[in-house]
Amino acid sequence: MTNLKDMWVSVLTRIEPTMQRTNFVTWFQNTSLVEVKETSAGRVAVVGVPTAFARDWIIGKYRIKVLQAVQEVDGEIKDLEFDIVSAGGLDVSQISSRPEKKVRKVRNKPEINLGNGLRSKMLNNRYTLSSFIAGQENRLPHAAATAVANMPGGIYNPMYIYGGVGLGKTHLLQAIGNAILKDDPEKVVRYITAERFVSEVVESIKRGEMNRFKGHYRDVDVLLLDDVQFFAKKKSSEQEFFHTFDELYDSNKQIVLTSDRPPSELEDLDKRITTRFGMGMVTEILMPEFETRVAILQQKAAEAGMLIDPEVLEFIAANVTTSIRELEGVLRQVITEAQIDDRVPTVKSAVEVFRKLYRAKEIIGYDIEKKRLDRSIMTSQDVMEAVSCYYRVTVGELTGEVRKKEVMVPRQVCMYIIRHELDESFEKIGEDFGGRMHTTVMNACNRILKKLKKDSRLVRDINAIKKEIGL
Ligand code: ADP
Ligand code: MG
Repeated sequence: MTNLKDMWVSVLTRIEPTMQRTNFVTWFQNTSLVEVKETSAGRVAVVGVPTAFARDWIIGKYRIKVLQAVQEVDGEIKDLEFDIVSAGGLDVSQISSRPEKKVRKVRNKPEINLGNGLRSKMLNNRYTLSSFIAGQENRLPHAAATAVANMPGGIYNPMYIYGGVGLGKTHLLQAIGNAILKDDPEKVVRYITAERFVSEVVESIKRGEMNRFKGHYRDVDVLLLDDVQFFAKKKSSEQEFFHTFDELYDSNKQIVLTSDRPPSELEDLDKRITTRFGMGMVTEILMPEFETRVAILQQKAAEAGMLIDPEVLEFIAANVTTSIRELEGVLRQVITEAQIDDRVPTVKSAVEVFRKLYRAKEIIGYDIEKKRLDRSIMTSQDVMEAVSCYYRVTVGELTGEVRKKEVMVPRQVCMYIIRHELDESFEKIGEDFGGRMHTTVMNACNRILKKLKKDSRLVRDINAIKKEIGL
C-alpha cells in the first residue's frame, strides 16, 4: 500500500470492531500515519497523535492492538513510534463496522416522540439506554436494564439497582421506562419516588380515596420506584406498598427499584418487603473509571452541541471522581463560563472553574507531567522507582554499569517488567537504561523469563513489585 492515509484507514478499520465505539472515537480521533521508515531494527511505523495525553493513553492501553493491526496491513513492520502531530489527523467518525445502527436510528426517530405520550410525562426523555454510557464498570446493570426493557415481567423481576449519589440510578430506571414505551406506547409505565409514593398514600387516606389510589397502581404494567431508602416508616404506606407490590408481582408486571444501598441494609423497612426487593435481579452501579468518564463527558458535550478540546474533557475526567452528576456540573460550568466570555473552553479555564468549585482539592494533570493524569498510565520511570525501592538499589545503579549480582538481577527484573507490562520496545528500554543495545535488553528479559520457570522467589518478587505500582 503506497498511500499513508489509505493505510491508516485500513489499520483503524481493523481496530474499530475490537473496542468500544466511544473509546475508539476518543482515542483515535485525529490520528494519522506519519511515515513508515526503515531503521537498523527493521521497519517502523510512525503514528501521529494529537496530544501527549492521547499518545500516552494509546501506548498504555492500545499499543499491542495498534501494532497487530499495522502488521496485518504490512507484515514487515516491526515496531511503532509515536509523534505528536496537531493537525491533519483523520476524522474517524466515518470508520465504523456498525453502519446499520445509524440507519435504524433515523428510522426510529418519530417513534421516540410517539413513545412519550401522556402516560410517560413523568419520564425525562434524555434518559435512555443508549445515552447511558456503561463502560466496563456498569456493563452488568446496563445489560440487566436492557433485558428488563426487552422483556418486562420476565426473569429479572423485580430489578433492584443500587449505588451512590449521582451515579445514574434514576437515569437507568427511567431509561427502562422509555425503552418499554418506545416499543409499545400503549403500556402503562409509572415512575414515582418512594417519598412521593408515601405522601400519595397519606393524602389518599386523608381524603378517603384509597380505592382510587389502589386502582391507579393496579393498572400499571411497569412500576418504577426511585430511591426506596426514603420509604419513610409509616405503617399505612408500607402496608399499601406491600399489597401493590404483591399484586403487580403476581400478575407478572415489571417492578424496578433503586436505592443507595442493597436491600439487606434497608433497616427501616419491614423484612417482608426487603426480602421481596432482593428476589429478582440485584445490581450495583459503580463510579466509572477515567476512560468511561471521558466518554461520558464527550457525549454530554455533544448533547450540549459544544465541540470541546479532548484535553479539557480529560482534565475534567481526571479531577472529578465522585459522581457523574458532578462531572456534568463541572462541564456545564466550564461551558457556561466560556460562553459568557465568548471563547472556547481551555484546560486553563477548566482549572479556574475547578478551583472555584472545589477550593481545597488538589488538582491533577495541570502543571505536572501529563503522563500521571491517571494511575493506570505507568511509565518506565515508575517501574524503575518501584524496583529500586524493592531491592534497595538506586535508580542510578539500575541504569548504570555495575555488574554485581545485587544490581544485575534488579536491573534485569526492571527491564523485564517494563517490556512485559508497559510493552515498551527493546530499543526504548535500552535508551532508558543508559544507552544499552536492544539485544542486551532482549537477553536480560529472556534470562528473567527462563528463571521465572523455576525460581519461585523471583516470581514472588516480581508480583510484589507489580502489585506495588498497581499493575
Ligand atoms: P442518581 O439517581 O444515581 O443519583 P442520576 O441518574 O440522577 O443519578 O444521574 C445524574 C446525572 O448523571 C444524570 O444527568 C445522568 O444522565 C448522568 N449520568 C449518570 N451516569 C451516567 C452514564 N453512565 N452515562 C451517561 N450519563 C450518566
Ligand atoms: Mg436519583
